[in-house]
Amino acid sequence: MASLGEENPNDTLIFMDLAIEQAKLALDSLEVPVGCVIVEDGKVIASGRNRTNETRNATRHAEMEAIDSLLQQWREKRLSASEVAEFFSKCNLYVTCEPCIMCAAALSIVGIKEVFYGCANDKFGGCGSILSLHSSSSEPLMSGGAPPGKGFKCTGGIMASEAVSLFRNFYEQGNPNAPKPHRPLAHQATQ
Ligand SMILES: [Zn+2]
Repeated sequence: MASLGEENPNDTLIFMDLAIEQAKLALDSLEVPVGCVIVEDGKVIASGRNRTNETRNATRHAEMEAIDSLLQQWREKRLSASEVAEFFSKCNLYVTCEPCIMCAAALSIVGIKEVFYGCANDKFGGCGSILSLHSSSSEPLMSGGAPPGKGFKCTGGIMASEAVSLFRNFYEQGNPNAPKPHRPLAHQATQ
């Protein structure tokens, strides 16, 4: 059988399906539905979903949740910085939407091996849509500065329609935390 590389295409779909499951959990919690899993050696070792509303912290994207859960596991095992770097270099991330600029920079800094994503992130995408932080040869962000991290291989468009339909569900059900400029609320007493 012909192989497209070391990643088995069936595995890619299986892991993206698990990322979609995480995104559905986010949707159930009225969060923007983005989910991810981190895989090492064919095994899911961490998962994450967007928790920005729950935590009232705009940086708690799915990828950051998964990275932090790994760092926590490895801290408990008292791994050294070089051991952590070694681990990340063997990990692949599957995420339903293209990592944003913040997450793409973080993934590049921790040295993730490879990223697979679903739909593109036209507003904030850091893997080609707005910036190309996955590409180590990309232009430095700041004059005199090096691009953060060493970059990673990145493949998009995997089960993209599933990822998009979750976003559609989310916006159709109405995001209670989003500003609604078309339907101004009556002024309410604030604390
Ligand atoms: Zn992000």
